[in-house]
Amino acid sequence: MPALLRQLAGLGGCTHPIRLDGHRTECDVNTRTGEIGNVLHHLDSTSLPAGHLLVRCNNRRTTRCAACAEVYRRDTFHLITSGLRGGKGVPERVAAHPRVFATFTAPSFGPVHNRPTGPARSVRRCRCGTLHDQDDPALGTPLDPDTYDYEAAVLWNAHAGPLWRRFSTYLRREVAKRAGLTQRAFREYARVSFAKVAEYQKRGAVHFHAVIRIDGPEGGDTPPPAWATAELLTDAIQAATAAARVDGPVIDGRAHAFAFGRQLDVRTIRSADFDGGQELTERAVAAYIAKYATKGAETATGALDRPLKFLAELAQLDISDHARRLIRTAWTLGARKDLEHLRLRAWAHMLGFRGHFSTKSRRYSTTLGALRDARAAWRRAQAAAAAETEPDTTLVLAHWVYAGTGLTDAEAWLAETLEPAPGTEGEPTRA
Ligand SMILES: [Zn+2]
Ligand SMILES: [Zn+2]
Repeated sequence: MPALLRQLAGLGGCTHPIRLDGHRTECDVNTRTGEIGNVLHHLDSTSLPAGHLLVRCNNRRTTRCAACAEVYRRDTFHLITSGLRGGKGVPERVAAHPRVFATFTAPSFGPVHNRPTGPARSVRRCRCGTLHDQDDPALGTPLDPDTYDYEAAVLWNAHAGPLWRRFSTYLRREVAKRAGLTQRAFREYARVSFAKVAEYQKRGAVHFHAVIRIDGPEGGDTPPPAWATAELLTDAIQAATAAARVDGPVIDGRAHAFAFGRQLDVRTIRSADFDGGQELTERAVAAYIAKYATKGAETATGALDRPLKFLAELAQLDISDHARRLIRTAWTLGARKDLEHLRLRAWAHMLGFRGHFSTKSRRYSTTLGALRDARAAWRRAQAAAAAETEPDTTLVLAHWVYAGTGLTDAEAWLAETLEPAPGTEGEPTRA
């Protein structure tokens, strides 16, 4: 039992580990001759306390695995932070580059219950006559479900990714135009980079939060031109957002086209030192993006976090009627041959959105992969130090096959007796 506890502790709180069958052998290698020497370490899955090698699931979603999502959230926090103030291979000068935090919304698909704000942040009555409480589940749901445009709502989510790509192309064009440059010449002077995350509004529409930055021609390593200001960037974002449009399918004679909603919020990001209270700080932005990177459509669908196999499953789910209708619409549209490319059935649980949750342009900062590699290298070095071997002089032979997922009931029970998963100390969890 102590051995099993030790093995479970190695999972760092992951509750849905991957189980692997196989073996791993480490041998000494003579660095001069290349000859293989003694077997230093041999591991066979059958001799492990759990009967398998257990590997963390690395799922990014909190509802799937809280511990692995926490690692993902921290990595995302570092990825966003390094693009704002440098570090992890990004020069500190990026903190002086013009950068903004922008939120892009979906258009209206029909009136929904809300909390309109009046003068001096007072909350007014909703159109239905009620003064909704902040956590009223009715918020975001349609005033009249029968006239709400579910078809457009689902198709908008399905086109949100392409719409963002169109926007980013236009943005470079708009920035270039304001600098008096052709697009070709623009590249010799500046680069626009971004990191973004998708979030579901209560009404089930995806919106995007993005950090957008102007760098010099070689990215973060080079200073941006003097004309590059946060004001120019903001102005260009507004123009590009208004112009971005993608054509959608024609359904029963209705031609769909998609654009962002009119509500666009663009704010300049200040470094933490100049936090005057109202301004957005680097830390708040990074925490905000990192938080949403570990979520799915839960805001609208509750605990539904995996694809549906049959529409009949929908009846059993404890979700709102609004979410149910969005999912059913996605499922129904998913049967159409002409919409096959949208894979609406596979993505019905995401209300049609099949894009990546968090994406960034190549030059924004480091990558999640690089952060993971650094962590793995650090662990290897630690293990080698503990075993008093040189990591570079050992040969590893390994062969593993998938044997399943998750813990047995007994393992899960034991795992719960272990220390809680790494907490949220360090970075703030809320913006
Ligand atoms: Zn996990
Ligand atoms: Zn209402």
